[in-house]
Amino acid sequence: MTDVLAEDTRAPSRGAADGFAAQIEAFFGQGRCFLLAKGRVGLYAGLRAMNLPRDAGVVMPGYTCMVVPSAVQLAGLKPVYVDIHPETYNLDPALLDAERHDDVAAIIVQHTYGIPCEMEPIESWAQARGVPIIEDCCHTFGVRYGGRLCGTLGAFSFMSGQWNKPFSTGLGGILLVNDAGLAEAVERLVRAEAVSPGRFRNLVLKLQILAHQALVRPSTAGLVMRLYRWLTRRGLAIGSSTRGELVGEVPRSYFATMAPCQVRRGLREMVRIDENIRHRRQRTAYYHQRLSQLGFAPLGVPEAEELPLLRYPVRVANKEEVLRRAERAGVEIGSWFEVPLHPAGTRMEDYGYREGCCPHAETAARQAVNLPTHLKVDPSTADRTLDFLAKHARPA
Ligand SMILES: *Cc1c(COP(=O)(O)O)cnc(C)c1O
Repeated sequence: MTDVLAEDTRAPSRGAADGFAAQIEAFFGQGRCFLLAKGRVGLYAGLRAMNLPRDAGVVMPGYTCMVVPSAVQLAGLKPVYVDIHPETYNLDPALLDAERHDDVAAIIVQHTYGIPCEMEPIESWAQARGVPIIEDCCHTFGVRYGGRLCGTLGAFSFMSGQWNKPFSTGLGGILLVNDAGLAEAVERLVRAEAVSPGRFRNLVLKLQILAHQALVRPSTAGLVMRLYRWLTRRGLAIGSSTRGELVGEVPRSYFATMAPCQVRRGLREMVRIDENIRHRRQRTAYYHQRLSQLGFAPLGVPEAEELPLLRYPVRVANKEEVLRRAERAGVEIGSWFEVPLHPAGTRMEDYGYREGCCPHAETAARQAVNLPTHLKVDPSTADRTLDFLAKHARPA
């Protein structure tokens, strides 16, 4: 229903969009920002603009959202999965050398949960092959690797404004292009092909943003998300993915720009972005300190307690039971990633993933739950979440 009305040629208010894009560019101190309908659309546009040989390989961790390999395929390229390191949840650079594909044309690094990738060995590997680096920054905003901001480390990076990301634009995506020539190519592509969301789509998105604001708290998050997915399946809400996208054709409204209501929401989020990052850092430090006291392994990466994580991962032996009980008890605990190509139920072979090719990712998917760090998680919510874990979860 919404797709029919999606292509209204009415120009969105340029002023607000330009202002938001300029703030993103200022935050990163470089690059050219494009505001799009989803994070994955940023990846799709960036890859298209790179003009890589058809069917060339794009390396990525086998521990991601299925929309990432889907965007790669929609851009005419082929996902190549590399396993994660079990401690960092990020692509393990030590496995890159075993990568025998001669036709690899790009590599996507994903800073999972906000944990920065070990960039140095990846950068040497990529440089030696003349392969551009792309950053999946859907879990990161304001995270640094050796002083350098994630998002500025490759040819381009993409971010998601989905509900549970560093900040939400009520769905929505950001593409930051760090290479001037590539930015021009993206600009031409966006002008030629991207559709702007029509008035009706903007209205539905706006109602969803308002509903999310009114209804979602840590105690209701599980329930509301279940309702949202139910509405989406019946075409009554704008969801995260459409059917066409999942079967390999580019849906007409896939390559779209950000709606005006999303731009306004983004501008409001930028006002409190420093507070957001500070808050996430505090919650991370607190979880980090308390988890080992409760018998769970804290995150095993250097300076973990300093990171403004999006989600704090914890390994448990009874993941399904923990998630089921948490939803019933009104405790917000996340399930990323349910399978190597999230969510559960993805036909992973359609995206070139062979069962068993990323064993560490498969184990992590079975064991990892994650704790929220967002602004609605006050100290007592954090304690309640930890108490719940201590009571119902068995360390893995
Ligand atoms: C959410 C997410 C995406 C996709 O973002 P959309 O805005 O939904 O397209 C990509 N990569 C990762 C790691 C994500 O968590």
